[in-house]
Amino acid sequence: METKTFAELGLSQKVQAAITAAGYDSPTPIQSAAIPVAVTGRDVLGIAQTGTGKTASFVLPMITRLETGRARARMPRSLILAPTRELAAQVAQSFEKYGINHKLDVALLIGGMSMDDQVKKLDRGVDVLIATPGRLLDHFGRGRIMLMGVEILVIDEADRMLDMGFIPDIEKICKLLPPRRQTLFFSATMPPEITRLVNQFLRDPERVEVARPATTAKTITQSFRYLPDGEDWAKREMLRDLIRADNVRNAIIFCNRKRDVAILLKSLLKHGFNAGALHGDMDQKSRMETLDKFRSGEITLLAASDVAARGLDIPDVSHVFNYDLPWQSDDYVHRIGRTGRAGKEGIAQSIVTPEELKSLKDIEKILGEPAAWIGDGPTEQDFQDAGKRRRGRGGRGGRSDSAKKDARPADRRRASGASGREEPKAVKPAEKGNRKPADETARAETARTDARRENGRAKPQAEAPRRDAPRRSTETEGRREERAAAPQPAPAPQRARPRSAPVDASSKTAVAAFAGNVPAFLCRPARPAKAASE
Ligand code: AMP
Repeated sequence: METKTFAELGLSQKVQAAITAAGYDSPTPIQSAAIPVAVTGRDVLGIAQTGTGKTASFVLPMITRLETGRARARMPRSLILAPTRELAAQVAQSFEKYGINHKLDVALLIGGMSMDDQVKKLDRGVDVLIATPGRLLDHFGRGRIMLMGVEILVIDEADRMLDMGFIPDIEKICKLLPPRRQTLFFSATMPPEITRLVNQFLRDPERVEVARPATTAKTITQSFRYLPDGEDWAKREMLRDLIRADNVRNAIIFCNRKRDVAILLKSLLKHGFNAGALHGDMDQKSRMETLDKFRSGEITLLAASDVAARGLDIPDVSHVFNYDLPWQSDDYVHRIGRTGRAGKEGIAQSIVTPEELKSLKDIEKILGEPAAWIGDGPTEQDFQDAGKRRRGRGGRGGRSDSAKKDARPADRRRASGASGREEPKAVKPAEKGNRKPADETARAETARTDARRENGRAKPQAEAPRRDAPRRSTETEGRREERAAAPQPAPAPQRARPRSAPVDASSKTAVAAFAGNVPAFLCRPARPAKAASE
């Protein structure tokens, strides 16, 4: 893709001045490609992940185009739909950042916080309305907004909207908008449902693709740890080892279920870690507070679920841990994309249990290479056994009937009851076996771990050949050796050291980060009415 300067993109002088103030030297590839088209009023289909600078690729041309004209009461001139509250709030912050030389009125309609001020703004008329789909329809249904004045529609993270079940809402909203409008549509991937939506609602869009969907940044060093014993207490112990072993400045730890986020948080706090949690059940205020604490460094570990963490622009995360492998492989890419941003080195480590080997295969497919194991990886036999394993609810993992029988009563209740997983989501998980209560004592963990060391884990390697870690480019070799040669962090007593520490990753995205909080306009009362509406 041709490299351009900001001056060549057709942006207004005032917008260019704001870019200079933001400290950006040159446009990212998605900006170079999308902005010149968007400023002319044409539709854009942008296939780009978060971290590529995609937000500015629609916000900058929008501000340029909104310089002329004026908002009318209850009739926003432009509408941005985002899948989550946090993402919507981040987009709003971008308008503050890039709109410093403008007097645009921006309103944010998201769930979980009082919207009185925002509604007052809407009543007076806004240039930009940023909303989550459900909230928008809610306000529309109450007659608080009219959508026939929308000149520009942005749909951000459409594939995430699909995951969250928002597509019917998006279709409804699109039908409420004037057909003669500009649509800027962004998605990291293009599953068939998204293509259908694009064909239905975009007019002759310019397709702009900046990175192969679902690729991972070269700056991220990925590795996997196999845990043949998939019990939760063992996973938590392995996680603690991983955190202590590396120079973890700050980390996001991903779990598949919100219930496990809560359990993990409790355990981390009990073991003296400085941790917080982010999951879909938290109200907006606590989410924002936790995020602010994480951004400021007050909290260094953040246990999170996908729904809560998707699209967050948290600068400078040194590590991502997958406590659970995600059920959907492209979530793996999104998760680890929280680190290694803006050209910085990042580390992503994933714990893999036998139940997760099927998910691992999907991730390997997306990475285009075998997983790099630290320590003993699974054997071919483990993979074969995983293939034979009865698929659980939703077809991922799942425990056998005999395992269910052996489980304690509480476990059996869980196995047949609510999963506590983050909703909404497309794939239903299987339950994991032999959970221990959240408040298990450290002593009990240690005793069981020691017993296990004596028995299973300390056994010589299995007969079946290990899947060897990949050996790739020379650069990769160098990095791998560096890591192997680096002083190993203090190992837990008696714990066998990993055999090897092979690591690396695949492709690259141009990234940078912004540090931000709740948009300032949310924290201050609505401005007095602007010039009379037309
Ligand atoms: P996004 O993909 O929109 O989440 O943007 C990721 C980060 O890149 C944000 O922190 C932006 O502030 C930053 N960013 C956007 N455009 C540029 C640019 N041209 N140069 C440097 N950083 C940028």
